Amino acid sequence: MAQTNQRIAQAIAGAEMNGQHRTVRGVLRLNEPMAKYCSWRVGGIAERCFEPSDRDDLVAYLCDLPRDELLTWIGLGSNTLIREGGLPGTVILTGRALGNLVMNDDRIEAEAGVPCAKVAKAVERGGQVGGEFLAGIPGTIGGALAMNAGAFGSDIWTFVESVETIDRNGEMRRRARSDYAVDYRSVQGPVDEWFLSGTLRFRAADVADNANTIRELLGRRNASQPTGVASCGSVFKNPPGDYAGRLIEAAGLKGFHQGGCYVSDKHANFIINDGSATAEEIEDLMATIIHTVREKFGITLQPEVRILGRRTRALVVGNQR
Ligand SMILES: Cc1cc2nc3c(=O)[nH]c(=O)nc-3n(C[C@H](O)[C@H](O)[C@H](O)COP(=O)(O)OP(=O)(O)OC[C@H]3O[C@@H](n4cnc5c(N)ncnc54)[C@H](O)[C@@H]3O)c2cc1C
Repeated sequence: MAQTNQRIAQAIAGAEMNGQHRTVRGVLRLNEPMAKYCSWRVGGIAERCFEPSDRDDLVAYLCDLPRDELLTWIGLGSNTLIREGGLPGTVILTGRALGNLVMNDDRIEAEAGVPCAKVAKAVERGGQVGGEFLAGIPGTIGGALAMNAGAFGSDIWTFVESVETIDRNGEMRRRARSDYAVDYRSVQGPVDEWFLSGTLRFRAADVADNANTIRELLGRRNASQPTGVASCGSVFKNPPGDYAGRLIEAAGLKGFHQGGCYVSDKHANFIINDGSATAEEIEDLMATIIHTVREKFGITLQPEVRILGRRTRALVVGNQR
């Protein structure tokens, strides 16, 4: 690790000392606590955490890295749990970078760091419909493409025409939708490639109708989901023909507290950090939910959230009520 940090630091400082164009202009932080980049507000440290200035800067950084450097991409961390043991290698943070959004007739090209809500607004202003479901998803377009984020019967890949990707050598490609196998909250594509941007195409319609729908969908969301708390949205995928939230509630787990977190009273598929949770305690509560629902209904819930990083201890399954 020390050697890698030294190499990266030399690459940056060397270019500065020559008074030339800097090789890397973004911000590189070492041993960075990831809790501040994740909506659950928990998580261990990342060995290296790089926030690029733009895509050229990202290419420059990737080209400087050893070939075996582990890379993890984080947008706004709204669907990610990073264990307290932390992440080896480099975290590429796009949530405050790669923020260009271009509208071209009926197409929107959004870079990976653009918030989903901004795309929903752009669709509305462009006089199109179909993107309103994105308004309430608190992540980036990169994260949404990776997760096939969706709500209210729509998901993002329905609207994808093509994507741009980047690999660990900094090589960029444009890929067609047909290069990916897309399913409910699942996207399989070329390995070791990450999303740089997405080109989305929506349908033309009346602007006023669209604005009303965004407002209406945000209202429905506020009525049924906890807001203003540290969560990651829905923790588990809905099993075929049922809802994870319904099963968790029917298992008697609404409000169940374990460690520093609990199952929301408002929506049982949300786990809330009460301010004192660790990532491991959230994972423990997930294990308790999986165990309890399986015991009661014979259904094994699958996590929707992505769990990353080194485990510090074995899981603790709590006592069910
Ligand atoms: C209150 C709340 C409500 C939510 N409601 C919904 C909802 O209605 N529907 C829904 O689908 N989700 C919902 N979510 C979950 C989350 O917002 C979405 O999954 C979102 O798309 C994640 O985006 P992100 O930028 O935060 O991704 P992150 O959490 O940062 O990353 C998620 C995954 O994507 C990968 N990733 C991130 N960026 C890239 C990239 N550029 N290239 C390749 N991989 C990448 C990460 O490595 C990780 O595996 C909700 C979350 C919260 C907190």
